[in-house]
Amino acid sequence: MKVLIADDDQISRLITKAAVEQSGHECIVALDGDQAWELYQLHRPEAVVTDLMMPGMNGLDLCRTIRSSEGDSYTYLILVTSHGSRDDVLAGMEAGADDYVTKPLDPFNLRIRLLAAQRITTLHADLARYRSALTEQARTDPLTKLHNRLKLTEDLAELHSLSDRYGQEYCLAMVDVDNFKSYNDIYGHQAGDAALVAIAATLAAEVRESDGVYRFGGEEFLLVLRRQSASGAEGVMERVRSAVHALDIEHSGDPDGVLTISAGVAAHSHEHPAGTEQLLKEADLALYAAKASGRNRVTLASPGSSPN
Ligand code: GH3
Ligand code: MG
Ligand code: MG
Repeated sequence: MKVLIADDDQISRLITKAAVEQSGHECIVALDGDQAWELYQLHRPEAVVTDLMMPGMNGLDLCRTIRSSEGDSYTYLILVTSHGSRDDVLAGMEAGADDYVTKPLDPFNLRIRLLAAQRITTLHADLARYRSALTEQARTDPLTKLHNRLKLTEDLAELHSLSDRYGQEYCLAMVDVDNFKSYNDIYGHQAGDAALVAIAATLAAEVRESDGVYRFGGEEFLLVLRRQSASGAEGVMERVRSAVHALDIEHSGDPDGVLTISAGVAAHSHEHPAGTEQLLKEADLALYAAKASGRNRVTLASPGSSPN
C-alpha cells in the first residue's frame, strides 16, 4: 500500500514513517497539510496518516478536502491526535477520518490500523471495478458486442451539447437489414444471429474510431458520424452498404441473392440545427424511403421532414 504521512513535527514524522515502513508499506512524507494535499494528488495513496494540528491546512481540512475529491477510489484516513482529546477525535471522524491513533504513537497501534486500511481499500477497489464492469455491461448488446440504445441516448445528449457549443456538424444513419425475416425463416434463427454479428463487425470496421455504431434494436443499427456533412456521410454509408454486400452472405429470399442493408441519413448542420430526436425521425423516414425504392441503398433525409 502507498501511505502518505503528514506531520509538521520531525520526531513524530520519523516515528510514524518507521512504523509504516516496518509494516511493509511504501511511505510518502509531507511536512504540512498543504504539501500533503499536493502529494496526495500526485501519488493517490491508498492510506493517509495525518497529524491534527498543522500550520496551513490542518488535519481536519486535509480529511475534508481528500473526501470531497474522491471519485470511485477510496482513501483510508487515519488521524493522529493528542492523547485523550475526545472532541478532536469526534471532529476528525466527522471530517471524514476512518480511524485515529493517539500521540505518542505506538507503532503496533498504527500497524493494526493499516491492516484494516488495506482490507477496506481493497474492497473499495473491487467495488469500483465491478461498478465499471456493470456500467459497461448495461450499455453493451450481448450478441453483437456493439453499444446499445442506453449508451446511444447518453452519447447523443453529449454530442448534441458539444455540437451546440462548437457548431460542429454530424450525421445519424439508421441502418436496417433487408428482408431479414425471410433470412431467419430460410436459414434459421442461429444463422440470423451469426449474420447480425458479421454485419455489426463490418459496420464498426468501416467507420472512424471516433464514430459510434450502436445496435438500435432487432436488425437495426444506428451510426453516429461525427464532423461529417450530409454528402460526406452519404459517401461513408455507400461504402458501408457496399462492404456488407461484399460479405456475400447467401440469401435466396432476397433479389440480390445476398444479405444487404438499407440506410437513411440525417444531418445536423449550421443550416439545419435539429435536435437528436428530430434527426432520428428524419433518418428513420429516409430509411423508409430507401426500403420503398427497392432496398440495398442509402437515402438522404430531407431536412425538417416529419412522419405526419
Ligand atoms: P425489411 O427489408 O423491410 O427490413 O424486411 P425485414 O424482413 O428485414 O423486416 P421485419 O421487420 O419484417 O423483420 C425483422 C426480422 O428481424 C424479424 C426478426 O425475427 C428478426 N430479428 C430481430 N432481432 C433478431 C435477432 O437478434 N436475431 C435474429 N436471428 N433475428 C432477429
Ligand atoms: Mg427492421
Ligand atoms: Mg429489416
